[in-house]
Amino acid sequence: MIEIKNLVKKYGQVVAVNDISFKVKEGEILGFLGPNGAGKSTTMNIITGYLPSTSGTVEVDGYDITTHPEQVKKRIGYLPEQPPLYKDMTVTEYLNFVSDLKKAPRNKRKSELSDIMELVGLTDHRKRLIDNLSKGYRQRVGLAQALIGNPKVLILDEPTVGLDPKQIVEIRRVIKGLASDRTIILSTHILPEVSMICERVVIINKGQIAAEDTPDRLSNNLSGVSKLNLTVKGDKDKVLKTIGNIPNIKYITMTTKSEESVYKYVLETKNNVDIREELFFRMADNKMPIIELKPSAATLEDIFISVVSNAGITQTEEE
Ligand code: ADP
Ligand code: MG
Repeated sequence: MIEIKNLVKKYGQVVAVNDISFKVKEGEILGFLGPNGAGKSTTMNIITGYLPSTSGTVEVDGYDITTHPEQVKKRIGYLPEQPPLYKDMTVTEYLNFVSDLKKAPRNKRKSELSDIMELVGLTDHRKRLIDNLSKGYRQRVGLAQALIGNPKVLILDEPTVGLDPKQIVEIRRVIKGLASDRTIILSTHILPEVSMICERVVIINKGQIAAEDTPDRLSNNLSGVSKLNLTVKGDKDKVLKTIGNIPNIKYITMTTKSEESVYKYVLETKNNVDIREELFFRMADNKMPIIELKPSAATLEDIFISVVSNAGITQTEEE
């Protein structure tokens, strides 16, 4: 549905987007994840035709944004980072105004707008001035304007930014509801958001794609045995020394004392090396019984930090 190839955007000397390519299939919700300044808004502004690219191509439903901007814009509903809301209009007035801009057919307008307002939960607020709405409701108005004309594709730039936790939950529910028959790209710098809403994630950092996969697979690839939770009975200094002597250990963190002379440790190994057997025998040799030993799965947060810092939680080679 959306195909981005070798996209580059330079603002003078600043390379905001540096050769990124990805596809979004019809009906998919793609999470576009990255820290502030990564290039998310720039990419979205190019996809929606609000900014020209420096080079590269964007196709939406087979139409190229440079050669067929009108065809592309017709298919896209865009919630920019700062939706241009007119605060002295009521919700209905504003949505009518946007309908005019989008040249939505007049005969069906009333029913279209009432359907949209119902969908995003604005019906009870339709006569209110936008100026008097809370941030959460203004965001719904932003979503509503994106939905006018029933676009097949929605591009949502940080739709939950600035909302309180309750509003965030509500907006997420609205977005999930929209997903059934639409293709969505949603940007965020908030991690849990992508695992909650998105089927696939593209992580972008400094204008380049750093990772791309399903949230689950991203976690699984990096889980395995690289991080172990260990509980051992024995003198903690002796335990730390014994563990420290095992090859391929990267970090040891001692967390808490759980009962008399029983401590919990977190171990990280290099290159996904499995040290469990080694650990077992060394502890046994030293008469320090292992009470518990279990691998800990990498969270999406671990992955994000790993990818974004380029440090690699499992890949770091040290000498
Ligand atoms: P994100 O949305 O991921 O936070 P942006 O796309 O807004 O990132 O910005 C990417 C980079 O481009 C940043 O370094 C930002 O400072 C720069 N940038 C964005 N807009 C402009 C602009 N109009 N002029 C110059 N630099 C810009
Ligand atoms: Mg942005």
